[in-house]
Amino acid sequence: MESQIHKIHQQLMNKEISCTKLVQERLDLLKSNTHNTVNSLLDTLALGLAAKVDAKIANGQEIGLLEGIPFGIKDVYMVQGTYTTASSDLLKKYKSPYTATAIQKLLDAGAIPLVKENCDSFGHGSSSENTIFGAVKNAINPDLVSGGSSGGSAVNVAKDFTVFSIGGDTGGSVRQPAGYNKIYGLKPTYGRISRFGLMAYTSSTDCVGPITKSIEDIRIILNVMSGKDIKDQTTYQSKTISEQNILNADGIKTVGYFKNFIETDAIDVKVKADFLSAIEKIKAKGIEVKELDFFESDTLVSTYYTLAMAETASNLSRLDGTNYGNRIEGANLKDTYSITRSDNFSEETKRRIVGGNQVLSQGFSDEIYLKGLNLRDQISENFEKDFKEVDVILSPVTPNSPPKIGDSLKDPLAMYLSDAYTVGFSLGQLPTLTVPQGTETGLQITAAKNNEELVLKFANFLKHTI
Ligand code: GLN
Repeated sequence: MESQIHKIHQQLMNKEISCTKLVQERLDLLKSNTHNTVNSLLDTLALGLAAKVDAKIANGQEIGLLEGIPFGIKDVYMVQGTYTTASSDLLKKYKSPYTATAIQKLLDAGAIPLVKENCDSFGHGSSSENTIFGAVKNAINPDLVSGGSSGGSAVNVAKDFTVFSIGGDTGGSVRQPAGYNKIYGLKPTYGRISRFGLMAYTSSTDCVGPITKSIEDIRIILNVMSGKDIKDQTTYQSKTISEQNILNADGIKTVGYFKNFIETDAIDVKVKADFLSAIEKIKAKGIEVKELDFFESDTLVSTYYTLAMAETASNLSRLDGTNYGNRIEGANLKDTYSITRSDNFSEETKRRIVGGNQVLSQGFSDEIYLKGLNLRDQISENFEKDFKEVDVILSPVTPNSPPKIGDSLKDPLAMYLSDAYTVGFSLGQLPTLTVPQGTETGLQITAAKNNEELVLKFANFLKHTI
C-alpha cells in the first residue's frame, strides 16, 4: 500500500475532502467499532484542530505534510488533559498533566489525535487481553487476539480507523501486533525517540514505535519524532532519512538469519516453510544469505522477563494511591497501599511485580538479576559480531499464528514464549521493523544500532521481491 499520509495530504490541498469531514468520519468509525480498540475518544480536541486546518486551507495557506492527518495514541502516553489509564483500574480516572515529547512533536507538525487506544495494562502482555476495556479483537479475524501490548493501535491502523498510530515496544509490543494484523510496525533504536511521557515499563528497552500501512509513512513519522530531548538522557540526535535514500537496496549485500530460530520444534511448520521460501527469493536476487548462531529462545525469553519484571516492579512502586491513582483507604497507611495495589492491578501485572521483587531481593539478585544483566551484555556482543558479517538480519515475527481470544490467559508461560523472536532485538536495543509479508505474521528486519535507513531500504526491496 502506498503512503496514506501523502494521499490524504493531496486530497486536503486539492479540497477533495475537508479536514473536519475526514476527522468526523474516522471518529464515527472508532466509536461504532466492535474490536474494543478505544479507551477514550479525543473528539472535542480533534474537531477543534480540524476546523483550524480547514480555515487555513480556505485562506489559501500552505499546510505541512502531517497537518490534519488523524492518528491514534496507545493509552500509555501522556497527552495533557486527557485520560491516560494504561488500561488499568488503578489509573482509570487519571488525567495527564503534560504531553509526551514524541506526541508533542506530532502535534507541533499538525497531526490530529483522535483516540487513546486499548492495550495490555502497563504494556504487560502479548495479546491485549490484559485490559479493563475488554480484549482487543484481531482486525482480520475477530475470534483471534490482536496481539499486544499495542493491540488497539495495530487494529485501528489495519481497519483504517486511524491513518497511523503510536504504539510502545518494550519486547515486541509494536512488531507483534503489526504482524498479527498485517501492517508495518517499527521499534526504533533505543534512544532515537524520547521516552519522556511514555509510562515506564522496562526503562532499558522501552521504545516509541510508529504503526502504519506503508514504509513511507513509517519514514515520515520516524523523522518527526526522532531527536535529542533534554528530558530523556538516553536520547541522541539522528540524521533525517530521505525518501530517495530508501528507494533501492544497493548497499545491501548480505543478509543473515538465526538458524536456531528456524530449526526448532517450537515453530509452526507453515511459518518455517514460508520463511525459508522468502530466503530463497532473496538469494535469487543475488544477495548472499548467511546462517548465524544465536542464543536459544528460552534463554532470550528468560533474560528478557527477568529484567522486564525487575524494572517494572521498581517503576510501578510509585503507584500506591498517594500521588497517582484510585486510592482505597485501609485501616492504616500500609493497609491502604496494599489494598490499593491488590485491588487495582491485574493478575498479570501482579505476577510481574511479585516476580520482579523476587529477582531483585537479597539472596536472589546475584543468582538471577545479575545473571540476566550479564546475558544481556553477551547478547549485545553477539549482535556486534553479527553486524560485522551481515548488513541486516531477517527473522519471523512470531513462531505461531495468533491464538484465539481466551487461550493466552489460560497459559501465561506459553504467552511469554510467543515473544521468542522479538525480545532479543529489544535487549540489543536495535532497530527492527515488521513488514506484512513472507509469513502469516510477517517478517522482522533488523540492522545495527541507528541504522533505520538500512531497515527501510531492505523493506522496500522485500516489497518487490517476495
Ligand atoms: N509481550 C512482552 C511483555 O509482555 C512485550 C510487551 C511490550 O513490548 N510492551 O513484556
